Amino acid sequence: MTTDLASKMGQELSGKILEISGQNPHLCMQCGTCSASCTGIDLMDLLPRQVMRLIQLGNARALACRSIWICSTCLLCTARCPRGIDIARLMEALRVINLRKGNEVLAPEKIPVDLIKEVPQMALTSGFRKLSA
Ligand code: SF4
Ligand code: SF4
Repeated sequence: MTTDLASKMGQELSGKILEISGQNPHLCMQCGTCSASCTGIDLMDLLPRQVMRLIQLGNARALACRSIWICSTCLLCTARCPRGIDIARLMEALRVINLRKGNEVLAPEKIPVDLIKEVPQMALTSGFRKLSA
């Protein structure tokens, strides 16, 4: 892949994220407050601060990381970001881009029937809203 093509793809990704989230990731100064506040950090493969940096760079690794699916939209990072960035919205934008491509994490047909009987219906509904295309 040429540098020009990689740069064009990066710009397209940044544009899409901006359009969906309405947030400007370039305001991020990499202070790490979001990572220090994050309630899901133990299960994430990238810190929220690192996800922010990848978004700034238009790097597609931001789409492929586990952290965006682990994010519970608790909004602590959003409330504490000194630059006023709604990080949770950016995480959601990354999920939406994946789901629009059909990259879903929870496929209804793959859930064992026994589990469907046990899991609260609200949990299933929430899971489908967040994780299914
Ligand atoms: S808290 Fe805000 S400014 Fe600091 S790293 Fe996170 S997104 Fe960037
Ligand atoms: S909204 Fe997501 S990224 Fe932000 S603190 Fe909560 S779990 Fe972490």
